[in-house]
Amino acid sequence: MTWKEILDIQRSWTKVNSKELRMSQEDAIELYHNAPLHELMQAAHKRRMAMNDSGIVTFLVDRNINYTNVCTINCQFCSFYRPPGHEETYTQSFDEISNRITELELIGGSRILMQGGVNPEIKFEWYEELLSHLRINHPTIDLDCFSPIEIEGISEVSGLSTLEVLSRLKKCGMHGLPGGGAEMLVDSVRSDISPKKGAPENWLRIMEEAQSLNLTTSATNVIGFGETFSDRVEHLSRIRDLQDSSLSQYGIGFTSFIAWPVQLESNTFGKRNRGSNKLTLGAGPTEYLRHIAISRLFLDSIEHIQASWPTMGVEIAQMALLCGADDAGSTMMEENVVSASGTSKISASELELQKTIIRAGFTPMRRDSDYLQLDTDIIKELQRTLPSPIPLQ
Ligand code: SF4
Repeated sequence: MTWKEILDIQRSWTKVNSKELRMSQEDAIELYHNAPLHELMQAAHKRRMAMNDSGIVTFLVDRNINYTNVCTINCQFCSFYRPPGHEETYTQSFDEISNRITELELIGGSRILMQGGVNPEIKFEWYEELLSHLRINHPTIDLDCFSPIEIEGISEVSGLSTLEVLSRLKKCGMHGLPGGGAEMLVDSVRSDISPKKGAPENWLRIMEEAQSLNLTTSATNVIGFGETFSDRVEHLSRIRDLQDSSLSQYGIGFTSFIAWPVQLESNTFGKRNRGSNKLTLGAGPTEYLRHIAISRLFLDSIEHIQASWPTMGVEIAQMALLCGADDAGSTMMEENVVSASGTSKISASELELQKTIIRAGFTPMRRDSDYLQLDTDIIKELQRTLPSPIPLQ
């Protein structure tokens, strides 16, 4: 089929006929190669309006906490980690982490996203005690902690299976997992950029285990490693397959999908990268927007797609809201992993996110980690005073 025929079919998608109209991998590759951006945008926006609360764009008031930078995985694109024994290593104390959460509580936040390196020096009991301590001292904050690769590291240190680790951490108060570390779930790309991270199946298995325990999960994707369009579609396809399987088995799956281009500005990835053609590293705004639009069309069973302002800036994130994204991400308050490789903007105020959303033509709505909407009076006041364009039809 041509890109035109594929988009015509996708434009007639509804929740009722979604199974018959599911996009194949070949169709998605054709869109990457040939569909014009404005056509992709229009079709993806139509899909987003059919899938979500049409006039609403959600956002979350939260804080990122990167509790340790010690890591043994040595991802080629990472400028955040330090190997064990390095003079710049750190691991935050319970009090330091707790104080950060108190600052979040003071601005009315509802979730922390806590992730760090794979630190072999930390015992399993430390994680259990930390979560129990935070659960007692910050009962209203959702604790989304430790991405799949950290869970794997904890499993290796403790000798417990990853399912046991997840289950015991859940008992201590863990609410969900960050979706980090998926990057590109394709063997050839993964073995090039993070050989020690292991096969894509590991990330997928741990996410499935988390979903089987009713933990909140999201899926991520980093583009720009010199991968092919087929690689990108393979990544999306693996996410979609797991989503289908988890929804049918456990009744829950990924809440959302978040993609961004690898940050190359201040890291040494280009120099350290061994295999790929260096000329194809990175992905600019147009490629990012195309990827968001195709993801929205392809991932027909994932309800929410997030726009990434930390990596793309608020202006491009605003455009992503017209390419199929329905969520503006979160305030973050701090970020040390991706920003170590190039982004300078690591925090956005609630007001800034609200204005960004209104100026894109939508109504901002605060949400929690599970995308439950939480209305606020400030938003209503802003909407009365800020000019808002007519949304894309
Ligand atoms: S991306 Fe994560 S796992 Fe990879 S080196 Fe950095 S901290 Fe370690």
